[in-house]
Amino acid sequence: MTAPKKLFIKTYGCQMNVYDSERMAEALGGQGYIETQSAEDADMILLNTCHIREKAAEKVYSELGRFRGLKAANPDLKIGVAGCVAQAEGEEIMRRQPLVDLVVGPQSYHRLPEMEAKTRAGEKALDTDFPEEDKFEKLKARPKAKRGPTAFLTVQEGCDKFCAFCVVPYTRGAEVSRPVDRILTEARDLVERGVREITLLGQNVNAYHGAGPDGDWSLARLIWALNDVDGLERIRFTTSHPNDMADDLIEAHADCPKLMPYLHLPVQSGSDRILKRMNRSHTAESYLRLIERLRAARPDLHMSGDFIVGFPEETEQDFQDTLALVEAVQYGSAFSFKYSTRPGTPAAERPQVDEAEKDDRLQRLQALLTRQQRALQDAMVGREVGVLFEKPGRLPGQMVGKSDYLHAVHVDSDVVVPGDLARVRILSSGPNSLAGEVLPR
Ligand code: SF4
Repeated sequence: MTAPKKLFIKTYGCQMNVYDSERMAEALGGQGYIETQSAEDADMILLNTCHIREKAAEKVYSELGRFRGLKAANPDLKIGVAGCVAQAEGEEIMRRQPLVDLVVGPQSYHRLPEMEAKTRAGEKALDTDFPEEDKFEKLKARPKAKRGPTAFLTVQEGCDKFCAFCVVPYTRGAEVSRPVDRILTEARDLVERGVREITLLGQNVNAYHGAGPDGDWSLARLIWALNDVDGLERIRFTTSHPNDMADDLIEAHADCPKLMPYLHLPVQSGSDRILKRMNRSHTAESYLRLIERLRAARPDLHMSGDFIVGFPEETEQDFQDTLALVEAVQYGSAFSFKYSTRPGTPAAERPQVDEAEKDDRLQRLQALLTRQQRALQDAMVGREVGVLFEKPGRLPGQMVGKSDYLHAVHVDSDVVVPGDLARVRILSSGPNSLAGEVLPR
């Protein structure tokens, strides 16, 4: 029997990349690869890259340079680049860094086995097409490996919105939704393998419109169908665009028992002037009205958001409008960044805000968001919440899980094990997590 080959995947960026890395490992599993946590003993290294940060491509080149010694020590080592930088840079990667054997864009992962075979034959392999075939269908899972209690499931990819700061429409292509039956089959398979919570992923997930047995289904219909999957206890979805928050999805937040009371709904700015320049096609007011409707449907809904400060031409008044919107919403969690240019996007060409000013605005915004997050977390003390336990904590006898609202929760208990969903009374609130006690069933 030949020894398995070892695969080291380094994943950058979003949850969709985490999901894609799992699928790539499964695809290469069919070629006799098992995963390793160390680049040093790998037969193949894959960097699954993200284009969202400033100088993303340069960072990938410098990371690749670090593998020179490994390749010299093991000439059979194959090095590949996947993800959004692979899509954006294409052949240029192999030209600038001859160590690279394989470049694969996010739409072509199902072709990895044949690409890997090509590299073993001593050739370079490049595929950054946007093929018509369904890559998910072609990505064959390994036989029923046990999974942890939570999993991502990609239902939609790509985006047609063309926000002025974002590379996704260029790197992931146009919006595509997977058919309903394939998603339900994958969800049942995940549940059989131990998964109890599924987060549906898409760059624009609430624009989902996959083919169902009787025409296209909305995301809400898909969620209701998943609600009927026995053994699945929780459903989440991310990332949403305010303009695609359809009535049936708002209603699902009121009525669908397994849909969790947490919604990540990026707004990016509270200034209509900046939102227009960002090509966001919603206003601060329409966003706030939407949140009112969502909270009317589900009063305890925890909101999460994304913010960009220092977008080109943002004035102090524009920034004040963002702070006012944050005050109005009261976020349970948020991600905030300084604007950084992404080559090829419209905003990269515009007059930029001074870096020190961006730093100052980011600090002020984050201070406000942290206060809100902490206040909402502290308000959980004394309440009973559902917690899905995921793994042992750092201390002996400790278990860690996530609340319905996505707070990290610790308990001291020898009763619960990973995969248990229990009622927990929250006893205290720390900087980043809650502590509680498991209540009798
Ligand atoms: S909606 Fe999201 S993914 Fe689409 S262009 Fe805008 S920021 Fe990018």
